[in-house]
Amino acid sequence: MPPSQHALSKQVMKNWDFWKHKIANATNNRMLEQWAFHKPQIIRATSTQDLDPPPLAANDHPSVLPHEMYALEPGDPPSRTLTWKPLGFLSHIKRRTNDDRFPLSLWEVWFCTQLGVSIPELIGPLRQCSCNAFQIDLFGDHSQTCQHKTAATQVHDWAVSRLAGILGSVGHRVKINKITPATGKERGDVEIRDYVVLQKPRDVTDCLPPPRTLILDFTLTHTRFGRSLVHSLGQLTHKRRSDGAPEPDGALRAVARKKIIHYRQLYINRPEPIAFMPVAVDTTCL
Ligand SMILES: [Zn+2]
Repeated sequence: MPPSQHALSKQVMKNWDFWKHKIANATNNRMLEQWAFHKPQIIRATSTQDLDPPPLAANDHPSVLPHEMYALEPGDPPSRTLTWKPLGFLSHIKRRTNDDRFPLSLWEVWFCTQLGVSIPELIGPLRQCSCNAFQIDLFGDHSQTCQHKTAATQVHDWAVSRLAGILGSVGHRVKINKITPATGKERGDVEIRDYVVLQKPRDVTDCLPPPRTLILDFTLTHTRFGRSLVHSLGQLTHKRRSDGAPEPDGALRAVARKKIIHYRQLYINRPEPIAFMPVAVDTTCL
């Protein structure tokens, strides 16, 4: 029976000076980069004041978020500063039943990946991946990025169904099958009927445009190269130009930009325009 998390924390805190010294003198690059990903982040949320033209004047602003914020909070709310602690969720999860318990092997992979050390299960002679183009590295970077049949598709579909469940549970009309296509067979993952209210009436005689459907497209991305023949495996995909430090949201921004370019205009151009929003998640804290 492994020691409980409480017992481990107590043991670590009892010998904290030892760990403080270790952390201050750490030289393992990957561990330092993972640590940088997990530090609290401060994000400035754009307000409608920052938009030119403002959302009331032009309902065709390419992003739907300011409209949604405006409908909730009319007027000129100031920009907000949001603080995000990537590993903060750890203090909130708890199991409700015995079946809720994560298996030990899953914790082990998660824990080692977050720290930036080799995954015990993968230590030993390198194995060929079933895609036949790469070997499975000790840190799991290839496994996290391999597109070969399907682990990736299964994870994607699982996340989409959970996302739809959460949206449906608060009363939205949501579907994940037969999504309205953007073009040909290409389409987003989640469709929410009548979601986006474009503006709030200024008085009772104001005629509101009908609410728009919102389509989300979900992408799971990884912050390191795992199937590139050009870049070294395990290297970060996005670093700050000035000092080479990890860019925490670099991979998310890149994938969101790509999806917006691909889908947003196609969906707006439909006879009944549809709003589009990418949803991107990366593996640094999953
Ligand atoms: Zn592979």
